[in-house]
Amino acid sequence: MSRTLFEKIVAREIPAQIIHEDDLALAFHDIHPQAPVHVLVIPKKPIPRIAEACESDQALLGHLMWTAARVAEKLELTAGGYRLVINNGANGGETVPHLHCHLLGGRPMAWPPG
Ligand code: 5GP
Repeated sequence: MSRTLFEKIVAREIPAQIIHEDDLALAFHDIHPQAPVHVLVIPKKPIPRIAEACESDQALLGHLMWTAARVAEKLELTAGGYRLVINNGANGGETVPHLHCHLLGGRPMAWPPG
């Protein structure tokens, strides 16, 4: 199977503005930001989407959420608030088949989302 765009970012084959890395996860700025701060938090493991995560991925999924909150703190978003989004499949608006959590902040977010 061909490697995903985000696997290539993990391998440093495609450049990205990386702001956090640990054994399990990577966080980098989105190339087309939808807010003043728009970061993607991804597992290094290439899970295509949340619907395809396995039971054994539960700790990894928790780590992604925990990491997103730490990155938000690092970017001083905590006091003002922020939004975490995971798009799943066509109706969810997913375009890159490698699980990622969007961290959006720096402005008020509308609800419901478009
Ligand atoms: P999705 O639509 O799948 O939820 O989100 C994919 C995100 O990846 C989009 O927000 C898009 O702007 C971002 N993206 C696509 N290609 C690249 C890239 O090469 N580098 C970075 N940093 N972000 C990308």
